[in-house]
Amino acid sequence: MTESRMNEDESIVRPAARPEDERDRALRPRLLADFQGQEPIKQNLSVFIEAARARQESLDHVFLIGPPGLGKTTLAQITANELGVDFKVTSAPALDKPKDLAGILTTVTERTVFFIDEIHRLKPAIEEMLYIAMEDYELDWIIGQGPSARTVRIPIPPFTLIGATTRAGMVSSPLISRFGIVQRFAFYDEAELSSVILRSAGILGLSIQKEAALDLARCSRGTPRVANRLLRRMRDFAQILGTGTITRKTVSTGLEKLEIDSLGLERYDREILASIISNYGGGPVGAETLAISVGEALDTLEDYYEPYLIQAGLLQRTPRGRMVTDRAYEHLGMERRRAGGDYADERLLF
Ligand code: ADP
Repeated sequence: MTESRMNEDESIVRPAARPEDERDRALRPRLLADFQGQEPIKQNLSVFIEAARARQESLDHVFLIGPPGLGKTTLAQITANELGVDFKVTSAPALDKPKDLAGILTTVTERTVFFIDEIHRLKPAIEEMLYIAMEDYELDWIIGQGPSARTVRIPIPPFTLIGATTRAGMVSSPLISRFGIVQRFAFYDEAELSSVILRSAGILGLSIQKEAALDLARCSRGTPRVANRLLRRMRDFAQILGTGTITRKTVSTGLEKLEIDSLGLERYDREILASIISNYGGGPVGAETLAISVGEALDTLEDYYEPYLIQAGLLQRTPRGRMVTDRAYEHLGMERRRAGGDYADERLLF
């Protein structure tokens, strides 16, 4: 399948942030009231924020878990806005040396919200430093080298760490135990995504029919980042093909041109499922083997593609490996291999 090697630039529904998403800054909700969906998280957070604000204390450290593009960074920024405090943001891969973390922690002010994305990728030495900062509001700093090296503790103002991860399973338990508030994001339903789309259309000054917004929501992988990205593409199609209003027809034509199907799957998703069916009899197949067979990095497969395929009821993670479901066969128009090794007519829809 080398010719079908997945290429980040080609994928429109891949929930990872892309440079073009930067233009979406205006679409990012700034307050809890603008943040659509995730009601349980919003309700909890608003209570904790209110209480911390009334006590003039820093909010407890918050741990956010969920697939990419669901609003973890946005919610962290909103928390800082609602608390009326500074916001600092970084991601674990950007923290290479302890001095990188120290450089940020020495600039935090009272009650600052400090957001670390992809916190499961912290290096051990940095994680150690973070433990002390989170628990004692102190920085452990080593001065000198070799036998004359000594550690000094530098006090820092009480701050709130918000750690986000797509992989809760890869975060060490000592780190998790230091977060007082743990919240897990769920994929958004159609109604919530349609609200995201209508809100974004309003901000961008786009005209979109309500039904068209719902159609688009259905194909947005339960992910606001994907919904906003698809909305921008539909704006282009509406402009070129029609009157400028995004209608159901614009959405159906646009999605067809982008090769996005009725479940919001794109070509790569279908290739993953088809590969399990054609090459491994529907599974189980180990994730590493599958990643090689579809020409994708294991991390990307697990972080970006699998969560939605599982949520859509097309793929299962079992202790023995990945397996497709009956729904996947139906969706792809492929038939299950009959016992005895006979292949039935296997047609791919792409
Ligand atoms: P994550 O950090 O989980 O990868 P982001 O916070 O970067 O996701 O969200 C991606 C984009 O999706 C944001 O720029 C924002 O425009 C939009 N978004 C996310 N969650 C919501 C929401 N609940 N309501 C409206 N827009 C949202």
